[in-house]
Amino acid sequence: MADMNDARAALRQYFGYDGFRPGQEPLIAAILSGRDALGVMPTGAGKSICYQIPAVLFEGLTVVVSPLVSLMADQVAGLEDNGIHAVYVNSTQSLEEQSAALAEARAGRCKVVYVAPERLGTRQFAGFAANTRISLLAIDEAHCVSQWGQDFRPAYLGIGDFIGGLPYRPIIAAFTATATERVRRDIVKLVGLNAPQISVTGFDRTNLYLDVIKATPTVKRQWIERYVTARPDESGIIYCATRKETESLADDLQRHGISAACYHAGLSAEERHRAQRDFVNDTVRVVVATNAFGMGIDKSNVRYVIHHNMPDSIEAYYQEAGRAGRDGEPARCTLLWSDADIMTRRRFIDNESENDRLSAEELEAVRNRRRVMLDGMTGYCRTTECLHRYITTYFGETGETACSGCSNCDGEFEIVDVTDIARAVSECVHDILTLLEPNRDGSPRGLGAAKIVQILRGSDSQDMHDWRHLDSAPTYGRLKDRSAAQIRDVISQMISDGYLVVSDGRFPIVLFGPRAVRTVAPDFRMTVKRLERPAGASVRQA
Ligand code: ADP
Repeated sequence: MADMNDARAALRQYFGYDGFRPGQEPLIAAILSGRDALGVMPTGAGKSICYQIPAVLFEGLTVVVSPLVSLMADQVAGLEDNGIHAVYVNSTQSLEEQSAALAEARAGRCKVVYVAPERLGTRQFAGFAANTRISLLAIDEAHCVSQWGQDFRPAYLGIGDFIGGLPYRPIIAAFTATATERVRRDIVKLVGLNAPQISVTGFDRTNLYLDVIKATPTVKRQWIERYVTARPDESGIIYCATRKETESLADDLQRHGISAACYHAGLSAEERHRAQRDFVNDTVRVVVATNAFGMGIDKSNVRYVIHHNMPDSIEAYYQEAGRAGRDGEPARCTLLWSDADIMTRRRFIDNESENDRLSAEELEAVRNRRRVMLDGMTGYCRTTECLHRYITTYFGETGETACSGCSNCDGEFEIVDVTDIARAVSECVHDILTLLEPNRDGSPRGLGAAKIVQILRGSDSQDMHDWRHLDSAPTYGRLKDRSAAQIRDVISQMISDGYLVVSDGRFPIVLFGPRAVRTVAPDFRMTVKRLERPAGASVRQA
């Protein structure tokens, strides 16, 4: 039986590397000893070698399930370059080509076969598998099996059946770059891993400076313009939430004399290709893009990735931000966010109905999952902890993470306790709902955020007295020594955190959100991070 000495020899012989990276060794050792494995490592960390080395050492065949048909030819070419004979079977081939590839594999002339998950369920492949000695089944992008992941792919759910139908069970090794605790549990359960060796490594990218800034749309623009203008020789990617924003920001930057291209799915294939090529060749310095940009882009010297809006999960954020500094040189990832970004994301989830195959219950479950992921993202925006540690903890990496540079550890903010303001706002909403008669249809009659601020500050504007006696509310004037801007800020945060909601309609009113009761709990705390005041991280009463 092959052991780690053989593995090291194979690493040198086929790949020309002297040693394994952290995380590779325990996975390969487990697979060689006949145990299932789950490797969680970010893109580029070296997952492929974890199944390719066992593949060359095992006698039988290794089947690799991979979701991207378009990458299979490259993967196979890469192995062939290293002297490992491999084939792929997919829909880009004619039936004859498919049969030829399978015949090659069945004859034992190749070590590795790449297939898409959909193929496992075909008669052709089941027939092949029943008569071939498969030693190892490697599952790439295994998070696709989970509805908790970003890229759920139903065909992955068929992998378990495929394994069950084999004459004997191969060793199973699953790999993914994006797995939170929940996704990991799903992979183990749905693929059917048997007491796997689990390794989670490599999420901390120590050359990335992580930076989080809360800003209004105007400040975001100014910040980006200043940042990019000051770095005429550096390449960067700026991610925006909408196509329109990418276009207008790219225009702005061009007006400032910066060579910027725009990239989104609404452009023609040719325009997209050009933007990508010019960026990779350094003829344009900056790409302003939607999340359509990045898949399969191989550019190592991206010095910064700026997010003009907050994405809807840490997975999405880190994947995009992680395109900075692939060369290992220092790079910066800045997330510019606002409460409005969070509200937009929340509304998007609330209105989610695209998937009409789902029952109302299933749809609500999907929504809830996405809300939990969104909370992980908003937590990153608001945390006062080390941002590197936040990320590694989120991905389930154990062990200490030392900060290699982030805006929180550099302390460029102040923590302000606003619990009393949040409680007063909550009581004020209660006052309003009590004072105002409901609408004729029974729906509550509420007020907008501006009116809440007025009541809390004890505004003596006429309508407070004349109109519905709002000045008789118990919370009237409760926060008279606080600024309107500060109260508004807390209201926004309460909305984005789900303590309050804003109704749709011509006059948006503020009502209690799903987490409203939390605000009366004795341990309820709300803090805001105040930026632009470089002070040490100290708590003070607002
Ligand atoms: P992933 O599948 O995790 O995205 P890959 O398997 O494609 O990553 O590996 C990324 C790069 O790292 C490849 O160029 C690979 O050859 C290289 N690599 C992997 N393992 C090692 C190692 N032990 N030493 C040096 N380079 C490695």
